[in-house]
Formats: sequence, structure tokens, C-alpha cells
Amino acid sequence: MKLYNSLTRTREEFRTHEPGKCRMYTCGPTVYHYAHIGNLRSYIMEDVLEKYLRYTGLDVTRCMNITDVGHLTSDADTGEDKMLKGARREHKTVMEIAKFYTDAFFADCRKLNIKIPEIVVPATSYIDKFIHMIEVLLEKDYAYLSGGNVYFDTSKLENYYVFGNQEAEDLAVGVREGVEADEAKRNKTDFVLWFTKSKFEDQELKWDSPWGVGYPGWHIECSAISLWNLGEYLDLHCGGIDNAFPHHTNEIAQSEAYLGHPWCPQWFHVLHLNTSAGKMSKSSGEFLTVSLLEEKGYDPLVYRLFCLGSHYRKSLVFSWEGMDSTKTAYQKLVGRIAALSPEDGPIDEEAFAALRARFAEAMDNDLNTALAVTALYDVLKAKTDDATKRALIADFDRVLSLGLLEAAEKVRIAQKAVADAAKAASDAAGEAGLVVTCLTEGVDPAAAAEVEALIRERADAKKAKDFAAADAIRDRLAAMGVTLKDAKGAVSWEMK
Ligand code: AMP
Ligand code: ZN
Repeated sequence: MKLYNSLTRTREEFRTHEPGKCRMYTCGPTVYHYAHIGNLRSYIMEDVLEKYLRYTGLDVTRCMNITDVGHLTSDADTGEDKMLKGARREHKTVMEIAKFYTDAFFADCRKLNIKIPEIVVPATSYIDKFIHMIEVLLEKDYAYLSGGNVYFDTSKLENYYVFGNQEAEDLAVGVREGVEADEAKRNKTDFVLWFTKSKFEDQELKWDSPWGVGYPGWHIECSAISLWNLGEYLDLHCGGIDNAFPHHTNEIAQSEAYLGHPWCPQWFHVLHLNTSAGKMSKSSGEFLTVSLLEEKGYDPLVYRLFCLGSHYRKSLVFSWEGMDSTKTAYQKLVGRIAALSPEDGPIDEEAFAALRARFAEAMDNDLNTALAVTALYDVLKAKTDDATKRALIADFDRVLSLGLLEAAEKVRIAQKAVADAAKAASDAAGEAGLVVTCLTEGVDPAAAAEVEALIRERADAKKAKDFAAADAIRDRLAAMGVTLKDAKGAVSWEMK
């Protein structure tokens, strides 16, 4: 598989340190608020990547942190701890806020079919490991104490701007954020490993340390959690693009200084989801959540499909129009799958291999999920039997996780219920002979029931020779986008 590597800025063949195994780390959420659908874009794309790596046969171990301390309102070391801000907003303790929003994040993941990594570590549970790592960095002279805090000394590194695309001056702490530079730092790019001296005396969670009572910096958590759970050689590190600097840059600095050798050769960054008004951010107060999508009538999996429809290395602009067209596409796709015969049968191996190769080719090409989704349509169009088509859809959906067969089954059950109800109604009305068939795939079951009821009413009107009423119903159906084809004892219909 070829995957773009932010570290080398090229597409490279994906390799792992130990053949057959992949150790993957993901920066988890800062749990001071709900995740917004931008955050979840990153987690969806990382989920697809993990599942595809498994699909190719790799044994993946994935670890994710939960940031429940130390992430300040600026990604540089200034501002207030975001957790404290969340706690104050809701008149709760930091740990209550952390528990509530961690659970909310997992609930969103489940709705979006995002697999929760097997190892999840809250930062507050690893304080002793952070302290140990900082002690080693001090011993190795990569860190220093100044003004009560422990800092990482970036001047000790040959190559600090590892992602190579930052203008050092623009990004240097104090310049970028337009805040006062920290006088205690030796170099502008140095960052805090341990705070004892905070502007915020009411920092709720504090721990004893060799340098005084305080709390860890944000970056140290991901280095320590990754090293303790995935070992000295990480294969793949993921996060949203905003994490590349300073967070990932600082993670690399600390981890390699601590280990004394290169740490993670492959970095996967997801570009942002934006609104037409610009960046989506949790701190701005107003943001889009999975619950809001549901309130507006969208299945969260429609949002997953919306994300899969564009490449992870392009920023994506969210729009309700985009969601509407994705919803229609999802319903049509599910409708077409529901129309496949549910009978199991022997698999057409040749067709299976050829269509699977198309899917794999798309995914191997730097995770081209949009093309992988079109491979689903290729399956539906293919000249092969329905059992093979269903097997292919199940196979692709191990990675895409769009819940396609499950949704199709629900449609089939709903269609059957509608047909049974209509039949019962027509039997009761003495119309047992009229067969009504819908020729359009993916019509909403409630809408289909309404159309069918009108068609039967029209048949009754015709029988009673009330042609004006029959025509009025035909016009009403036409206004709904429904066209009718009458045959003897049967009416079929299509919806635009
Ligand atoms: P946070 O909860 O702020 O620590 O962010 C969680 C994840 O979401 C990180 O990987 C961020 O890089 C990522 N992220 C933040 N904003 C966006 C966005 N608008 N679009 C995509 N990913 C984002
Ligand atoms: Zn991280």
C-alpha cells in the first residue's frame, strides 16, 4: 500500500518494523466538550486506515490517549487548561467533565462505526510514567528547570522542524499566538514538560513531582503512552493536521531524545473539516455534533459516507446540501443492495477477485476512499450473481463500515411490512387483485406506503366511475414526483 508520509512528504510503500505487525498510535480527544464533526472526520479516516491495514493482513495494535489534563487553550504553553475551562463552564469537577465527555466521544464513535482502539489511556492515569520520562530527559540534558517549570531544550536537536513545512519564525511560541513570550524559556521553541508555576493557581488536578506540585505538559502524554504500550518502535502515528505542529513535532523531540534512536517513521495527518464560515473549533462554543446531525434527521453513517467521499489530504467543506445529496446517495445505495436476492449461494470466484482488486487498488493508492466507494457501484453493476455481490459488499464494508447490509436488511423488512399492510388493506377493501409495484430503488418506506395508499384509492375511484377523483389523485401523485404505469390488475410506479 502506498501512503503519504507527512514526515518525508512523499507517498511511500507502507512498511512496519516487525513484518506482519503494525503498531499504530492516535492522538485522542481533549475531553472538555463534545467532539465536533471535524474531530470525527479525523477519527473516521484513521478508522478506515486501521481497518484497511487489518484487511491487508496486518496484525494492528492501536493505542489512543484521552487528554484529560495539560492541553492549554493555546497549543503553545499559554492559556488555561482546557479541562478547567470546561469544568467551570458546567460547574462540575474536572474528573466529572472528563468522564462525561469521554463517554460521549465513545458514543459518537459507535454511531459512526468507528472502532474504539484496543488500548485507551487517560493522561491522568500515567503521571508516574511522565515523571519518569522527564527525569530521563533531565539526566540526558535534553531538559532544564527554569522559573519553576521543566522545559524541553529544542536547541539540543539537529532537526526540530521535522515536518519541514513551517516557517520557524511564524510558528515560534509567542509570535504565532500573539501572546507574551515565556521569559523562562531558553529558546522560543522550547516547551513545557512539567508545570509547577502556572498563571492559574486554581488548576484543579495537581500531582507531586521531584520539581514540586504541578501537572504535565500536553505533549509528554502521547510520547509516554505510546512508548509504554507500543514499545520503542512505532510504525504509524495519526492525528489531525493541526497536531503536526507543535504537538507531533514535540512528541518526536521528546521520544527520540529519550530513546536515543528514531521512533516513528510514518505520520498520517487528516486535513480539516471546515464550514463555509471557516475553521470548526470546540473552543468557539458553536459547533456541529453527531447529535445535531441526528436531530436534523441524518443517520450518522451518512456523515461517514460524506467523509469517505473526499480524500483525507484535502480539506473538506461541510454543507447541509452536501449532506442532503449524500443522504440520497446512501438511501439509493442501500435500496439497490436491498433489491439483491438475500439467498446465499456459491461465490463466483473470478468476479469476486476482479472486483476486490478494484477496491484494493483504490485503497492502496493513498487511501482513495472516494474511489473505493465507487467500487461498490461497480459491484452492483457487475455481471455476476447476487450472492457474490453481497459477499463483496460485506467484504468492502469491513473497511468502509457503512453498515450497508444491515441497512439493506432493514429496508427489506420495512418494504415487506409495507407490502403486507397494503395487501391487508386491499384485501379488506375487496381489492385483492390489484398488484402495486414500486420501480424506484431506495424510496423512503413511509413515502412508499403513502403512494401505494393513493394508488389504491385511485383504483377504487375508477371502479366507482368517479374519474374526476381518480384524475385528481393522479395529479397529486404527479406533484409528488410519481409517475404511474397502468396494466391489467396492476399498477407500477416510479418516483423522481
Ligand atoms: P482535540 O480534541 O482538540 O484534541 O482534537 C482531536 C482530534 O481532532 C485531533 O486529531 C485534531 O487534530 C483533530 N481535529 C481538530 N479540528 C479538526 C477539524 N476541523 N477537522 C478535522 N480534524 C480536526
Ligand atoms: Zn498526541
